[in-house]
Amino acid sequence: MRANKLELTLPLNKSDILASFKSLGVTPEVIQGLEALGIVKPTEIQVQSIPKLIKSPIDFIGMAQTGTGKTAAYSIPIIQNIDPNEPKIQALILCPTRELGQQIAKQIFKFTKFTEKIFVEAVYGGEKIEAQISALRRKTHILVATPGRLLDLQRRKAVDLRQIKTVVLDEADEMLSVGFKKDLDLILEQTSRGSNTWLFSATMPKEITQIINSYMDPAAVKVEINRDQRVNADIAHQYAICEQAQKIEALVFFLKSHKDERGIVFCKTKRVTKQLHEQLTAKNYQVGCIHGDLKQIERDKVMRAFKGDKLKVLIATDISARGIDVDNLAYVFHYQLPDQVEYYTHRSGRTARAGKKGVSILLVTPKEIKDMRLISQQLHIEFKQLQ
Ligand code: AMP
Repeated sequence: MRANKLELTLPLNKSDILASFKSLGVTPEVIQGLEALGIVKPTEIQVQSIPKLIKSPIDFIGMAQTGTGKTAAYSIPIIQNIDPNEPKIQALILCPTRELGQQIAKQIFKFTKFTEKIFVEAVYGGEKIEAQISALRRKTHILVATPGRLLDLQRRKAVDLRQIKTVVLDEADEMLSVGFKKDLDLILEQTSRGSNTWLFSATMPKEITQIINSYMDPAAVKVEINRDQRVNADIAHQYAICEQAQKIEALVFFLKSHKDERGIVFCKTKRVTKQLHEQLTAKNYQVGCIHGDLKQIERDKVMRAFKGDKLKVLIATDISARGIDVDNLAYVFHYQLPDQVEYYTHRSGRTARAGKKGVSILLVTPKEIKDMRLISQQLHIEFKQLQ
């Protein structure tokens, strides 16, 4: 493993440090849902879109790729503009594939965990239509759909689009490349006059411009986000492969080359946390550890030392680290992969705060590579292998 020199850089602009979801107009209930997912600092597309989309009924064009946080950028304003007492579909999100549709609906479900009940449903081709027809008989406020299936459902009178206030075209370029142009025309002809259209696309081919010209307000707000504005772009996500028995050696090597920096080593279980603490202490490393079995007084002592910089390294489980407000870290080290994908966001989000750079290092056995791939796919993170 190569030592990783961390540099301190000045923040790109003021909004990088100052923007919080609260300052963008996001409600405390939605913020609570975001925080439960480890989402605490808005991304660039979120800063640029959320206040505008919450406040006024406008058309919007966002040139942004997957991984920039665009789903939250449009979902949060939608959620905040839903009237939960009105049992009608009020927002429609169109997307190219079943997988993306499921992901969007899942994210919205989680963002609304602490709000008044808002119901989201996802419908897509390749699945029995009857089950979706009966699902739509229940109260639905937000509908996520692939265009072809939406039209099938409409032909069967299973969906009513008349109360829709907002239509989102997510990954619009992808929808065109998989052949949904005609279907999109049929849908937008019905919706574009009575509702706002928010279009998100990574590229702007001619057919997208046609859609914009035919169905959207010429005064639509346009925002362009580039690739390096992806979620946690200031975090370098890296990994090293080793056998289980070599993990301790690899960690010691890493700690030696980062001895002046503060970081957390994450484990999945209490047992491994305790064991690792003992092993490192036996090697004369000054490390602290927190886990669920510690008494409050012991926990406070460790945290004081860590916060006061007397202790550079803390070994922690996901749950025990949840309550501590230490986030200005140079690195997080994943000695074991987390149980749930979103814990990865929690863990790595503790580094790279306020314009600083940070590293998030995974130590994986050959068997764990597939779990790392899952994190990579779901969070759109590119992991670089350490040599
Ligand atoms: P998207 O670009 O919408 O596909 O989002 C990519 C991933 O980033 C999703 O797993 C989101 O849950 C996550 N995410 C969205 N916004 C943020 C944020 N502000 N901070 C950290 N993670 C985020």
